[in-house]
Amino acid sequence: MDGNINELIGELRTYLEYLKGMGITSLSVAENAPKKAPRPETRTLADVRAELGDCKRCKLHRTRKTIVFGEGNEKAALMFIGEGPGYDEDMQGRPFVGRAGQLLTKIIESINLSREEVYIANIIKCRPPQNRNPESDEIESCNPFLMKQIRVIQPKIICALGTFSAQTLLQTDTKITALRGKLYDLEGIKVIPTYHPAFLLRNPERKREVWEDMKKIAELLQSP
Ligand code: URA
Repeated sequence: MDGNINELIGELRTYLEYLKGMGITSLSVAENAPKKAPRPETRTLADVRAELGDCKRCKLHRTRKTIVFGEGNEKAALMFIGEGPGYDEDMQGRPFVGRAGQLLTKIIESINLSREEVYIANIIKCRPPQNRNPESDEIESCNPFLMKQIRVIQPKIICALGTFSAQTLLQTDTKITALRGKLYDLEGIKVIPTYHPAFLLRNPERKREVWEDMKKIAELLQSP
């Protein structure tokens, strides 16, 4: 740590001496100076997966069978983020492959995209026992990895599927019924929450609202 600071101070001194040599003897720090553009992401999804390793950062590692990292196009313009793996996902190590997953596949295809063209991930990567809701410590342990995936992919739009996804990504307690269909921002990426496919299996009459949200997503994907 000290070594790093000393190195940084050394570099700064060299730079200031260089400026002095150029005749620049004072620097003004404007209060509303334009923010620097974010550093381009040089990591890949494989790097993030490698960093995650055989994760034991939360208690879910004790009961999971497989880590469900996420899958799809590393350069996807559209990313879907669900809650967490269920039984089928835990068995196969792939997101959204059970009944809710089959419905998600149809939802994706309804806007003429395929699963391979988008990226699908979850708020947590390990199945909670008996599919209980994710707990806050589990979400906190997993979130840095999801954020790294998002920064690598840099999608134009994230579709947050269901309460946990929307509330976690948007850091809010607002109900999904109030959040859905509206546009939010996450690090410059548009976020549209909609209902979770598992909720739609129980409440098929709500599919119309998801269809409205998907139409909005399709329009945004077309816009510059
Ligand atoms: N439900 C989710 O939220 N994610 C999955 O991967 C499967 C079901």
